Amino acid sequence: MRYHIITYGCQMNVHESEKIAGLLKKHGHKEGVGIDDADIIVFNTCCIRDTAEKRALGNIGALKKRKNADKNLIIAVVGCMTQQKGFAEKLRAVYPFVDIILGTNNLSLLPRLIELNDKKNAVKIEQDDTYDADAPVETFRTSYPNAWVNIMYGCNNFCSYCIVPYVRGREISRKPADILAEISFLLDGGYKEITLLGQNVNSYRYESFDFKYLLSKIAETDKKFRLRFMTSHPKDFNRGVIDVIKSSKNICKHIHLPAQSGSDRILKLMNRSYTSAQYIDLAAAIYDNIDGALLSTDLMVGFPTETEEDFDCTLGLVERCNFSQAFTFVYSPRAGTASANMPDLSAEIKKSRITRLIKAQNKVTKAVSDGFKGKTLEILIEDERDGRLVGRTDNGRLVSVEKSGGQKIGDFADVKILSSKSASLEGVFVGE
Ligand code: SF4
Repeated sequence: MRYHIITYGCQMNVHESEKIAGLLKKHGHKEGVGIDDADIIVFNTCCIRDTAEKRALGNIGALKKRKNADKNLIIAVVGCMTQQKGFAEKLRAVYPFVDIILGTNNLSLLPRLIELNDKKNAVKIEQDDTYDADAPVETFRTSYPNAWVNIMYGCNNFCSYCIVPYVRGREISRKPADILAEISFLLDGGYKEITLLGQNVNSYRYESFDFKYLLSKIAETDKKFRLRFMTSHPKDFNRGVIDVIKSSKNICKHIHLPAQSGSDRILKLMNRSYTSAQYIDLAAAIYDNIDGALLSTDLMVGFPTETEEDFDCTLGLVERCNFSQAFTFVYSPRAGTASANMPDLSAEIKKSRITRLIKAQNKVTKAVSDGFKGKTLEILIEDERDGRLVGRTDNGRLVSVEKSGGQKIGDFADVKILSSKSASLEGVFVGE
């Protein structure tokens, strides 16, 4: 049968879809050309943001007519959206034509349930305490020259706005030996960049091994490759990690460090466990110790009770920390989280603040990009678009270069930067 997977949410989910594809291929299914060509449609959902959830539900609903006309079509809904309390029952009631509903720890059941095509038994969403984070998974990778590698699953932090700990469960770290073996296999197979994934990679711990140890072990190979990681939590990002990055030629000098807010009052309500001063100190330590480091972040506006003064503190953080890029979000309550019980701010206030925040960050983003003009930088070419090659610098800036020689995706190449466009740069290959 031919399958099509639709992915919502973050890179963790993109990688999860690679694993689902690997699982389906292993059981003899083939990737379809698109949704219309597929006999099995898998919605790999995400419930972290309201928008992703609404989009997924809209797209599932749109399949009703097709399913009525084609009873053999199999529709599966998987991912963390299904693990919200009462969600599977609701989905079954509203969309009875959905065949299979699986939670994140039960994905290995998918091929068997497709084979059985037995609706009565096709819902499994419970958190499974026997879930084996180290079980080998055949992965159908789609992001060459980069490969995503999970180092841990779940989160223990309970930020007051976030549903992840409820739907993904507590932290489980993979064995270092398994992670190292997977990376060694990927590098031998020609991958040039490895991105370690976890909700909070800095709290990785397996017996006495911590994240600093893991990073240094992975980076110590002689092979030329780039090592990235996401996502970091400021409360757990320690100076030891800075030292490892500083002394390694393989670990990229780009750190994504979600700040969320610049107001101490709001950070406390968010249960983030750091103050803005601690965040600023950490940012300064990164800039002072890691040559050429760039820092990106996540920022949220409109958290319950946020005042103009609180919001001004976030604007101040943007100036102070010189973020190369910021992913900006408007707060939306997620049922079951602590902040969902707090009074929500009006849509007008949120809209006004997000507009001003984006404007302030765009100014900083452009100034950071302008600072690259005239410099020669090494990029790793990762894509080809409209006759141009697109790569990334070690510190995470996207660079677009006109195709002129034999360069191809997966090559490292030196590029002279000629101009900048907001968060991206344009250049020419050196020596041509
Ligand atoms: S660290 Fe906070 S925001 Fe990130 S996944 Fe965990 S609870 Fe959610």
